[in-house]
Amino acid sequence: MRESELLAHIYDRSKALPGSFAEVVVGPGDDCAVLRSASGDLTLLSVDQLIEGRHFEPGTPTDRIAYKALARSISDLAAMGGEPTAALAAAALPDSFRDADALFDAMHMVAADFACPLVGGDIARTTGPLSLTVTVVGSPHTERGPVLRSDARAGDAVFVTGRLGGSLTSGRHLSFSPRLAEGGWLCDTLGDRLGAMIDLSDGLGRDAGRIALASGVAIELDASLIPRHPDVTDALAAVSDGEDYELCFTARGEVPTRCPQTGTVITRVGWVVTGSGCTLRLDSGQTQDASELGWEHG
Ligand SMILES: [Mg+2]
Repeated sequence: MRESELLAHIYDRSKALPGSFAEVVVGPGDDCAVLRSASGDLTLLSVDQLIEGRHFEPGTPTDRIAYKALARSISDLAAMGGEPTAALAAAALPDSFRDADALFDAMHMVAADFACPLVGGDIARTTGPLSLTVTVVGSPHTERGPVLRSDARAGDAVFVTGRLGGSLTSGRHLSFSPRLAEGGWLCDTLGDRLGAMIDLSDGLGRDAGRIALASGVAIELDASLIPRHPDVTDALAAVSDGEDYELCFTARGEVPTRCPQTGTVITRVGWVVTGSGCTLRLDSGQTQDASELGWEHG
């Protein structure tokens, strides 16, 4: 079973959740779940796994493994426009792995740098590869509230932060900055003009396709507008390479071209229109389905 099929199965199973449990505001299917406490506060929750041989190569320095494990979970908070509260980490470690102390020390340090203290964890031995599972807890932007994948509207423009492509081949996937400041600033600056948002883990084509699907709209990307990272020369690679961990969002009205706090560039890459799916308009004028261009991420 493909990951997308399995996730669809989980989403179908849990569709009744928000209706039948008042505290579940957003169930599976977005970057984070959103829960409402008895006092009315909203909490963001997300969990991610990092597996040796799949998300990092054997021999990757321990501190880089710790960094990536936390940063990609924190990127899901950024995708909701949220802020971190705390993290929990569970590790399955092969018998040959001798750096458990260093691994958790590094996770504590990285978590503290993100103002996301590591407040609990678990370690088990495994005969399989090293695996780290990080759960993050956060809070949404106070005024804008959680930014969902499902709030894109026809007429919105589509934007990305930063430059895309080549993250895996260049090693940037071990050192990227989750766009927490940018996500919060977009909420501050755009408010209700900010539509849908997602972080780019599986490639712009596939992830923009997820916004289109969740919002019941179509997205048209323009290959000539996509900001390519210097690590790639091919526009298609910038659309299909995974692990950029930039933000893709839709918005109405004027959007600044740079985040003043961080200097991160903001680039318009397409439009939201009525219909379904995500297409890429090539320089030749031809269009192709973009939602299959990307990483089926495990
Ligand atoms: Mg995500």
